[in-house]
Amino acid sequence: MVKRGGKEVVTVEIFKETYDVMKANAEKKRWNTKDYINMVLMEVIERDRFLQSYAPSLSKIGYEHNILFIRDAKKSKTAEIYLRDRALYCNVCDSKDCVHIHYALALPETAKLFLRKPIRK
Ligand SMILES: [Zn+2]
Repeated sequence: MVKRGGKEVVTVEIFKETYDVMKANAEKKRWNTKDYINMVLMEVIERDRFLQSYAPSLSKIGYEHNILFIRDAKKSKTAEIYLRDRALYCNVCDSKDCVHIHYALALPETAKLFLRKPIRK
């Protein structure tokens, strides 16, 4: 096992287009690209840990057709989160401010909802 700075390292392949964005982001913050990528990945791990402790009964099922599906084990329901009037909306709670919305805001898929045009129902 190779070590760098006292920590074991492994080599992985990253898509060039992803690497280029990460490199540009790192340069903007005057970070070393490798350290920046490791920091971003660590934040993802920490976010997932946080979500598990913050809302242990919730889990992301998937994302399809501009709808984010979040399983609520406590309610035995699946919340559909989507954009309505330029805000996130939850069909289970009929609300724009509920635990499912809070959970959704921490997920990267939520950014996709804002990048695409809202669906008309
Ligand atoms: Zn809800």
